[in-house]
Amino acid sequence: MFFFVGVQDINRSLSSAGGAREYCAHCHNNNSMQAIRHVKCFSVFFIPIIPIYWDKRLKCDICNYLVKIDNEQVQELCKKNHL
Ligand SMILES: [Zn+2]
Repeated sequence: MFFFVGVQDINRSLSSAGGAREYCAHCHNNNSMQAIRHVKCFSVFFIPIIPIYWDKRLKCDICNYLVKIDNEQVQELCKKNHL
């Protein structure tokens, strides 16, 4: 009997934080970076089963560069977008 097991990355947008005008250190554009929740899951037959690791990141819409952010930075983004 065979099992296809592996690790899968899942990115979902953080709707509360929304997009933020931030400078991308990778492509050097002053563009729109989106706050996302990144989850690394153990998967069986390509179905995510057990979350192993999760954090929050900013993702560049142009080059897909990811920057890890903490909860304080997410709260700052929420304040910026709801003013
Ligand atoms: Zn970029």
